[in-house]
Amino acid sequence: MSNQENNLRLGTTYIHAGAEPDPSTGAIMTPIYQTSTYVQQAPGVNKGFEYARSQNPTRKALEEAYAQIEQAKYGLAFSSGVAATDAVIKLLEPGDEVIAANDMYGGTYRLFTKIFAKFGIKFIYVDTTDATNISKAVTAKTKLIWIETPTNPLMNITDISAVAEISKKANAILCVDNTFASPYLQNPLTLGADIVMHSATKYLGGHSDLIQGCLMMNDTDLREQLYFIQKSSGAVPGPMDCFLVLRGIKTLHVRMQRHCENGEKVAHFLRNHPKVKRVYWCGFEDHHNYSIAKKQMRGFGGMMSFTLQDDSVENAKRVLSSTKVFSLAESLGGVESLINHPASMTHASIPREERIKNGLTDSLIRLSVGIEDVEDLIEDLNQAIG
Ligand SMILES: *Cc1c(COP(=O)(O)O)cnc(C)c1O
Repeated sequence: MSNQENNLRLGTTYIHAGAEPDPSTGAIMTPIYQTSTYVQQAPGVNKGFEYARSQNPTRKALEEAYAQIEQAKYGLAFSSGVAATDAVIKLLEPGDEVIAANDMYGGTYRLFTKIFAKFGIKFIYVDTTDATNISKAVTAKTKLIWIETPTNPLMNITDISAVAEISKKANAILCVDNTFASPYLQNPLTLGADIVMHSATKYLGGHSDLIQGCLMMNDTDLREQLYFIQKSSGAVPGPMDCFLVLRGIKTLHVRMQRHCENGEKVAHFLRNHPKVKRVYWCGFEDHHNYSIAKKQMRGFGGMMSFTLQDDSVENAKRVLSSTKVFSLAESLGGVESLINHPASMTHASIPREERIKNGLTDSLIRLSVGIEDVEDLIEDLNQAIG
């Protein structure tokens, strides 16, 4: 069933995306095709499946679902979010330039600076919250613009439509890491982006039980190039993980509604707490780019960061170790609430001077607000802050 043809609403799309009854039995749920190869009738005569690095029916169903949830023509699944990012950079050649956000997921920064820079790809980091910084950095060699919005962990917002205009003029590909918003809150392709990337490990899987990434796109040529990279580099997910993401997507809208409700309540609780100094959440009307967030997002989600009035690292670490409902862990987007210290955990791979320059201080605390009863979350934070 294609949502583009049927004009289905978001929740209906998520429940039915990629789900066709299994042709061999009619099973309503896509089976886990745990196989590496497929028997051929004669050399080269097969049912479109030859070897599971290239094609797997469970993955195929998920890739169809990925396309539908981002209102895209095509979806591709990868063994992790960074493997999906890795595939996008492999579209480039030595000498090509990438303009990237100066405030993004630490693992993306590490992949760019530690793996790809040595192959002669040049990365230029700018503050993308002001799109004119991107147009100033464009040269004849700019081939890719990489943005993340909202950003991890400072919840900065970049205007996707404005950047899409710049990328079109520059003849460059615009890729948006849409992990934090999820497709429920934001669809970058509809705003002019060329590729959407997700860490499906987070909201799409939604239950902190797998690692996976994906890319969605409309351009057939781009899809062919990225499919070629997917099968040639080989970072494909296994069928069990594909099944779990298919299952996770079915409840994306219900989970996101609760993440948004709980997120709003926790953000306001923190902001009104006398021992909290600053809360970074893109749903506050005085947020730096609130008008853009409101324009391009359907809600503001459950991700936020904050600092304490006593801004010492020791005090932040005391709070980080004192929560009982929030678990101290990396990652985000699962049903359970997590608390994290970006400076020593998720963002430790960014050099300290770089981090501090971009506002990511040693005392910053990040929350992934889950879908528990929000009173328990607020009581937990209240006792931990003390
Ligand atoms: C987690 C994350 C990634 C990397 O994804 P993995 O699945 O961990 O490889 C990329 N971008 C953002 C915003 C993330 O949160």
